[in-house]
Amino acid sequence: MRSRPLFPTDGKKQRISFRHLLAFTCNPSYSRFMHSLRQIFALLFVWGIGLACAGAADKIRVSSFSTVLTEIAQKIGGDRVEVTGHIKPGIDPHEFEPKASDIRTVTNADLVLLSAKHMEGYVAKLKDSIGTKGHVVEVGDQKMQSLKLVDRSEHEVEDPHWWHSPRNLIIATKVVRDELTKISPADKALFAANATAYINRLEVLDDWVRAKVSELPRDKRKLVTNHDAFGYFARDYGFTVMPISGVAKNDQPGSKNVAELIAKIKASGVKAVFSEDVANPKVVQEITRETGAKFGGELLSDGLGTGEAATVEGMFKHNVKTIVDALK
Ligand SMILES: [Zn+2]
Repeated sequence: MRSRPLFPTDGKKQRISFRHLLAFTCNPSYSRFMHSLRQIFALLFVWGIGLACAGAADKIRVSSFSTVLTEIAQKIGGDRVEVTGHIKPGIDPHEFEPKASDIRTVTNADLVLLSAKHMEGYVAKLKDSIGTKGHVVEVGDQKMQSLKLVDRSEHEVEDPHWWHSPRNLIIATKVVRDELTKISPADKALFAANATAYINRLEVLDDWVRAKVSELPRDKRKLVTNHDAFGYFARDYGFTVMPISGVAKNDQPGSKNVAELIAKIKASGVKAVFSEDVANPKVVQEITRETGAKFGGELLSDGLGTGEAATVEGMFKHNVKTIVDALK
């Protein structure tokens, strides 16, 4: 038996009227049609929920407290990780304190990545929150040599700014690769391939930095910046750092220190001094006024920035171009 058409037509082009709609909803084909539609929607809904749950449960949850480690975890983990970057570009990691929402996320993480070398004063609090569930990895403390610097109370402390050395970034990449592999051994080959590709890029970056820095004679490689963040960079590329203040950007240099630095800059003929993305540039202005050195530009000292400096590669290129071009 042929069922009646849903919309009765006499072959002519017609507009759908109220009469048509009434006929349509009273037609037995309509109820069969709606029943099938409901079944399809129910199936799609269950399938969608299933996929979403499987996807979320399957992924390795990573909490990162460094913009640089956020990039590394994303590059190595690819689609297999869901990375929460608790420190965003522009946030001063020396002053950062985790909020209740950060702690909640950390509690559900499989892996927590920290810069370490005493950057995070809240590490004990994080370890307490996570308990035995996830794994806290203090990346900067793994197989990475520490340089020293002088803090605001004139004490020698570990320099936490290890990411200004591609050599250290390669160590960090291997640490993250190994930690992800421990959590998901089935993805070992994927993490290894991603790490190799990323390390290759870091090696190319290191070559680029060396070539760019070679434009600058050794006696001109003197770096005057707001805070003492470029020790590892200086070690790798033959610079001498002349910091205006200590470990953190909010450190205020004493007037005696500023006077000494001004004398050093005048004596060594440094052409430019630099400021940083979130630092107070007042002291830099005073130094340029007193010494005749020019303001060389802003450097990214405490992690990734935005725009062209939103990646490790971009951050390096921005810093190195700014330094070399101003000191030439
Ligand atoms: Zn810093």
